[in-house]
Amino acid sequence: MKTSRGPADLKLLQEMNRAKVLETIRASGPIARVDIARQTHLSPTTVASLVSDLIADGWVRSVGEGRSRGGRKPTLLEFNARAGYIVAVDVTDSYLTTALTDLNAQELEQERTIPHQLAGDALAERIGAEVGRVLSTGGARELPVVGIGISTPGLVDAGAGVIRYSLKLNWMDLPLGPALAQRFHNPVYVENDTNAAAIGEKWFGAGRPFANMVYVSIGSGVGAGLILNGEVFRGFTGSAGELGHMSIDKGGERCECGNIGCLENLVAWPAIWARVTKAVKRGVPTVITEIVENIDQVTPEILNKAALAGDQLAVNALAEAGVSLGIGLANLINLLNPEAIILGGSLLGEKSFMLQHVRKTMATHGLKVPGAAVRLIPNQLGEKARLFGVASIVLHNLLATKFWPSFAEEIAEPSLAGENQRAGGVAPDSTPPPANYENGG
Ligand SMILES: [Zn+2]
Repeated sequence: MKTSRGPADLKLLQEMNRAKVLETIRASGPIARVDIARQTHLSPTTVASLVSDLIADGWVRSVGEGRSRGGRKPTLLEFNARAGYIVAVDVTDSYLTTALTDLNAQELEQERTIPHQLAGDALAERIGAEVGRVLSTGGARELPVVGIGISTPGLVDAGAGVIRYSLKLNWMDLPLGPALAQRFHNPVYVENDTNAAAIGEKWFGAGRPFANMVYVSIGSGVGAGLILNGEVFRGFTGSAGELGHMSIDKGGERCECGNIGCLENLVAWPAIWARVTKAVKRGVPTVITEIVENIDQVTPEILNKAALAGDQLAVNALAEAGVSLGIGLANLINLLNPEAIILGGSLLGEKSFMLQHVRKTMATHGLKVPGAAVRLIPNQLGEKARLFGVASIVLHNLLATKFWPSFAEEIAEPSLAGENQRAGGVAPDSTPPPANYENGG
């Protein structure tokens, strides 16, 4: 074992300590120097020196005095979330949302959502134009933008910033990250939409207390974002979490992925919608036809309401989907033994009829111990989870110990083509749990 350190090791150690102190202030501030020393196990002298550097560089500010514990009143410090800005972009099949956030992923009021029917290169160009527009707004001109985060559907190589494949958006091996990094001289992180939502909920939403959690979303598709040991788990080729293509029915329909009996064809909204509209057109009676003029206009919310009111067609459709999803989640729980499953999508929202059947089926199809331990929790951030997620990725790459060395230079001289090569993962955090969360287990 090496016992001496060279100058390079020392520099790295200092940078790691600086990152540790900054992360402690961010997570626990306002905080006194003495408490930073206690939490980081660094000496008070080291903390004092690192803190004065961080204040001089603008990352930390003092915010008044704490209560005296015998001596002089200690100065309280907090992370200066306004030291820079993050550009967060959320790409979906039909909307493009861009936002400028502070370094706590807040200040999303500047977000702008625009509908689009674009795909392929035209959509990529539109994204570039929107990022350019946000970068030219007032706040971004005054303070440095420290990174750009983009959430997108499809198979994403987050490390390379490349969208490998998106059927709906007609993208194949699109190097969106490197292209935008070169154009805007900022690090760019590209993340799959479900992973982005999982990361958002993990850092800023319902997932905060859990190191091992799965974000499950039911909408136009079915996806799962896996957070294992505090970090997003992408798998070998980046496709981990494809819960929608878990095959649960050997005699089922053929899926667009080419396989048979995929969960997505049983529980995603288009599948449920198709079953409901078909039944109505066959003449099955339902109150839904009194609510909407044309059955094709039925929404998840309307179907859920009808089921809660006892409408037989709605009850059957959602119970059936709930049973299928329950089987899928039981398999997921048996495999991963997560602490929590965060539920996304309007079918699993508040007063979800479908969820009752999900729970019942999980109880009969899953292993008892992990099934009893897991919590099913509604999401907290809704549609904004993806924006929070990609902003979190930028933030955590900024703060992460292993990436710290290049950070100071980035701020001074933002010329970083190819910066997106850095991994977009999240690190474990120490944020306290939200005051109230529902125990669904
Ligand atoms: Zn499939």
